[in-house]
Amino acid sequence: RYLQRLQETEPHIHAYINVDEQFAREQAALIDQKRERGEALGLVAGVPISIKDNLLTRALPTTAGSLLLENYQPAEDATCVRRLREQGAIILGKTALDEFGMGSSSENCAFGVVRNPRDLTRVPGGSSGGSAASVAASSALLSLGSDTGGSIRQPAAFCGVVGLKPSYGRVSRYGLIAYASSLDTVGPIGRSVEDITRCLAVIAGPDPHDLTTLADTGISLDALPDIEEALVEERKPLANIRLGVWTEALEMPQLASEARLALQEAIATFSSLGASVVPVSMPSFQAACAAYYILASSEASANLARYDGVRYGVRQDGARTAAEMTRRVRTRGFGPEVKRRIMLGTFALSAGYVDAYYRRAMQVRRLVTDDFWRAFQHCDFLLSPVSPTGAFALGAKAGIDLYAEDVLTVPASLAGLPALTLPANPSARLPTGMQLIGRFGDDVGVLRLGRLYE
Ligand code: GLN
Repeated sequence: RYLQRLQETEPHIHAYINVDEQFAREQAALIDQKRERGEALGLVAGVPISIKDNLLTRALPTTAGSLLLENYQPAEDATCVRRLREQGAIILGKTALDEFGMGSSSENCAFGVVRNPRDLTRVPGGSSGGSAASVAASSALLSLGSDTGGSIRQPAAFCGVVGLKPSYGRVSRYGLIAYASSLDTVGPIGRSVEDITRCLAVIAGPDPHDLTTLADTGISLDALPDIEEALVEERKPLANIRLGVWTEALEMPQLASEARLALQEAIATFSSLGASVVPVSMPSFQAACAAYYILASSEASANLARYDGVRYGVRQDGARTAAEMTRRVRTRGFGPEVKRRIMLGTFALSAGYVDAYYRRAMQVRRLVTDDFWRAFQHCDFLLSPVSPTGAFALGAKAGIDLYAEDVLTVPASLAGLPALTLPANPSARLPTGMQLIGRFGDDVGVLRLGRLYE
């Protein structure tokens, strides 16, 4: 049914770069055989899932949305993909993204533009726009995305679905094509908090291939019923919760009035569920986005050095020297936004500028982390909009305007905190999202709160 739905929706939406129907059917047949033999089925057995195309899959090519990796065939699955497959998920295909995850609209992909299933004239958000669009269009039940500065949360908001950026280190980055390694996270996008919790339970946990993974297993499979039981048992389920409302975010002049209104309604609902609501200030907020773009570009400039036509990259013929060969590969392979970031990052890291830009941005990162630390003395969770506006028209934003999309999502990225997007006004034609941010490591808390609200 999902494959059929995919055939119907793809011509308009373009959420996928690659679909392998035969592979999907083979996986489904294997699940059927297991069931007939009475064997134990996994936690996500038979769940049709799409995977952002910057996560390695052995069965399907992985392009990161870049011409440079056109036809690249990974030798193994990313850890998160392997874990999903072991638990019986059926991979339908690979979803479109802004090249290497760089962008906020999914217009920046070498293989075409994704459209928002709620309104085809608008962007689905980015960079995991294909993932969010596939879930919103029901051409997948769940999706894996990646979030470096907002790439799960903002597209989930634009498409009216649910998405979690886990705590940094909660999910292995092994097999995620690196953008900015100190910020990169892998997380689920789905239709409900329950679904993404189940997905997170499968993909989370330590991995010897990624030494930044958190040692505690965090979301154990047994944690799931706890969340559900709480729902049934607790009457005023949020009675002990202090919810911080991030004042600078709500007072932003660029904040669309419908987003502000939706958030105010959400605040009223949280209070009626028993939460105490406290205003919380995050003064470093002003500088976070600028710092993020310096740091993310700096790390990208180093990470993307491997695309030299030798280790990776579609080799171009006719070069007489190795340097010329690399230049040709990168000139043809990288799109303009990727080149801009490599230039920006190389500049910010170069001798003579590293103190003024990179080190200063690192200082801002520390201030942001301290601000959150102070905020969490007064509250247990923070609530904010996900982005200043809802989904905008295709072609409407470029350059710095697009960077400014991320002002509300990058702070949690800089501090490595778990952050959940929930639809704030799910019945509106164009949804806006709200963001619940938790203390470092409290992914379960954020999901639980989201679930109780939902
Ligand atoms: N829009 C941000 C960027 O372009 C975030 C992208 C992401 O989280 N991968 O860097």
